[in-house]
Amino acid sequence: MFISFEGIDGSGKTTQARLLAETLRGEGREVVLTREPGGSDGAELIRRLLVEGGAERWSAETEILLFNAARRDHLERTIRPALDRGAVVITDRFADSTRVYQGATRGDLTEAVETLHGLMIGIEPDRSFVIDIDPAEGLARGAARGGIEDRFESMGLGFQHKLRDGFADLARAHPGRVRLIDGRGTPDQVASRVRAAL
Ligand code: ATP
Ligand code: C5P
Ligand code: MG
Repeated sequence: MFISFEGIDGSGKTTQARLLAETLRGEGREVVLTREPGGSDGAELIRRLLVEGGAERWSAETEILLFNAARRDHLERTIRPALDRGAVVITDRFADSTRVYQGATRGDLTEAVETLHGLMIGIEPDRSFVIDIDPAEGLARGAARGGIEDRFESMGLGFQHKLRDGFADLARAHPGRVRLIDGRGTPDQVASRVRAAL
């Protein structure tokens, strides 16, 4: 089983991915908890290029290529081997983040994103949980965390609103796979909603 967590910055993806991994491990399953950008040695190197470059470093087009390069390595080295041996893979972000951040929100690059995904990745999670939260709350949570890798967060609240709409559009377009989860309340309350949806 392949599961992704998606959503705007600070929505609670990392927290919920960890809580679901703990629950499933408690039920005796092997769980590989991983993240993007990153999740393999090569992809973590590319992550550094992405997050340390500053908001103006890359064009949206170059970002799409870097995210896909990282994702391909993550898929080859971490995701595929784990799925092949029957483990549950939980990833903190996957291709929906690229669809929304680079495809829909920084200009209309949806077609380029879909074409590259089809050519180079070609796999979708069985379930994608979008943790849905008001951007002001997401940014406050992010600030509380004291995030250092916040180059995209620096693009402001308006950008986060566009992202939230982009994730909601994806959930409407793929109702079987992509589920919007109300991100309000305590981490445990959100985790129960995820568990119910799964
Ligand atoms: P980022 O996009 O920055 O990676 P994220 O979506 O992974 O963020 P988390 O890191 O899980 O979000 O959460 C951001 C901060 O908010 C953390 O300090 C976390 O402990 C806290 N947090 C997570 N979930 C909740 C919640 N339901 N209520 C209050 N605080 C929360
Ligand atoms: O989720 P995480 O905080 O680890 O992501 C690192 C940074 O990369 C964040 O600032 C996020 O906004 C950004 N990002 C992005 N496009 C993606 C995935 C993540 O801009 N496709
Ligand atoms: Mg996170």
